[in-house]
Amino acid sequence: MNIFYTTLLFLIMSMIANAQQLPKEPIPSGLESHDRGISREIEALNHQLRHDPSYRPIPKIQRKQNGEAGLGIHDMPDTACVQIIPIVFHVFHPKGEAGVPLAQLEYAIEDLNRTFAGTDADFGTVNPVFKNTKSYSKIRFALAKRDPYGKPTNGVMYYQDRQGGFGNIGPSWENQIRTYAWDNYKYFNVYVQNDIYANNVFNNSGVCWYPSTWMSDNDIARMVYNYVYLGKGGSSYNYLEFNQTFTHEVGHYLDLRHTFEGSSCTGAGDLCDDTPPTDIAAAGCDATRCNGIINGENYMDYNTACYKNFTIDQVARMDAAMKHPGRSTLWQPSNLVATGLLSPNSKDTCLDSPFISYSTQHLRESLNNDGSLDGGSIIIYASNGAKFGMKGKTLITGEHYSPIELPDGLKENIAVSDDGTFATMTISGKALKHASNDTKASLTFTLFEEAFAEGVDKAIVNMSTQLRLEFRDPWKKTCVDTYVRASADTTWNLFELQGPFPRYYGMWKNNEVYAIENYGRGFITESAMSSKVVFLEPGTVIGPDNTWNQGGAPIVLHGPEHTALDGQTGYVGFRIQVGDAFHYGWMRMAISATNGCTLLEYQYNEKPNEGIAAGADCAIALSAEEQVMVESFTIKPNPTNDNIMIDFKSDMPIGGAFVIHSMTGIEMKRIALEQSLQEISLQDLATGMYVISLIDHAGHRIRSQSIIKH
Ligand SMILES: [Zn+2]
Repeated sequence: MNIFYTTLLFLIMSMIANAQQLPKEPIPSGLESHDRGISREIEALNHQLRHDPSYRPIPKIQRKQNGEAGLGIHDMPDTACVQIIPIVFHVFHPKGEAGVPLAQLEYAIEDLNRTFAGTDADFGTVNPVFKNTKSYSKIRFALAKRDPYGKPTNGVMYYQDRQGGFGNIGPSWENQIRTYAWDNYKYFNVYVQNDIYANNVFNNSGVCWYPSTWMSDNDIARMVYNYVYLGKGGSSYNYLEFNQTFTHEVGHYLDLRHTFEGSSCTGAGDLCDDTPPTDIAAAGCDATRCNGIINGENYMDYNTACYKNFTIDQVARMDAAMKHPGRSTLWQPSNLVATGLLSPNSKDTCLDSPFISYSTQHLRESLNNDGSLDGGSIIIYASNGAKFGMKGKTLITGEHYSPIELPDGLKENIAVSDDGTFATMTISGKALKHASNDTKASLTFTLFEEAFAEGVDKAIVNMSTQLRLEFRDPWKKTCVDTYVRASADTTWNLFELQGPFPRYYGMWKNNEVYAIENYGRGFITESAMSSKVVFLEPGTVIGPDNTWNQGGAPIVLHGPEHTALDGQTGYVGFRIQVGDAFHYGWMRMAISATNGCTLLEYQYNEKPNEGIAAGADCAIALSAEEQVMVESFTIKPNPTNDNIMIDFKSDMPIGGAFVIHSMTGIEMKRIALEQSLQEISLQDLATGMYVISLIDHAGHRIRSQSIIKH
């Protein structure tokens, strides 16, 4: 499989391990990852072993001797009752579901379950040397059917983005990742991308981390996996044996090490006694290493042509990992109800004790941003023999449940159904304080035995739980003055959006082309299939009705094929997707074929799915309809070879000044504001492009424009 990619675009080189990993300067040549990312995967896992503050490996499985408790030599797992882990796929593909169809993802899950169940056909062809050690598991996987807010889902979130890079480590990447994550204690989050390290290498297969409460607490526990090696059909290359690399990554999720861990014949290796030591990766399916035949067909080696088996010790390690606090919540029956994988009325004989489950434990403030909760209801199920008393009545606080510390302004009501199988908690009213830092991350809710009908012989296992009430800051715009440019001297400049949705972009120059690296996120271009950016008239509403570039190529500001914007400063529309909503914004760009392209300012609307007016003044709030474009001043002539006249269109700020910067940010001139029609000499400046900014008395930039000196 010699997989070689070239793109029109340019490569961002690999990053240095352990440093905060940011996309680097693009280089204009092809590059292939010969090992499909193997060294990067090992690097990521080793990094976790060294730096994850919560990581504690599952200890080596102890074999029993002479009747001791432990694992016997030939103990096969009891698979009468399976344990199911809910999965959510976050799929980043410019064509969304058409690119990575549901059937492709479903095949991946089915195949994963075959490998865990030992029912894949080649399990029967494992080298007979290992016939007494090869094993299978009672762990299974399923696409979630309910999202964190209790709403129906098919377990897949599609994004119209070419977004990559979630295989990287470091706070900046993690800030992005957690804006997509679903509760890590309820879902196994799998990010499906093509360029998993954002280095324009499209044939890295995948990476996944060991169990870690630190990662789960931070919403960054994850697998990141390439859709070309996933499942069957759609974007998959259909290398079905190789594609069981997906099973390999899940092995890491359940704390399995590589069989070649430590690259030594004598070290601790993978902490499993029944996988013979091997000192190199991918030695071969039936190779001899360290004076013996290795289990090269093991899922945790790298022999991708013969992925066939786990061993008894590996399965025992995974069973132990299922009890790790970062994994143990996933497969509990209450979580399977919450994620839609188990009926709350199930009589499954594998269910042990009666339990309580919730349609959701996470309520968000409504989009009205008035302190009320979206939906505001939580269904509380009494399952597996439990039943509420007070049928058709309302539960009483202090008698049937402990008082809930709801924020002022909210009130709960818990009404039991007529048959006692469930109760509906409705939280009504409007919280008086409802900024994001008023969020109640874990609100304790405890039911008392008095809430339940008698006659159940086993105690209910989970009478207490945590609810989460999430509030949002008042809707506003993120408004940032900046200075990011690409020029002959500076061919690559990375920047990250400030505000609640951190996202990387880059300004770059290659040959005669100036572009914005957008990582596939949407921009307004000449047409959906065009990468040529257009300038929008001030006041133009940027929103769902515009024509959006369909992710993929960087957006071209200037090039031999795109000269329409030369010598101008204008507004470029962009959008970012968060969950199933878009946030709209604009960037103000100065474009010059000779002097480079500069990002001067940007804004985006923090309210989902609401437009924003190009060039809106940040001080003017909220809805696009209310926004008025204020051109603070005009410059004539521009270009100039001598003096310019500056004319105010609005009130001149008292105590302000004009500041002229070079395109590399050096202050060249500062002129105090004296009169509304002001003349400034540029005679002493070298020819080229400059930025002239109006600042107020406190030094804050009010508005900037570019000017060209001939
Ligand atoms: Zn691995």
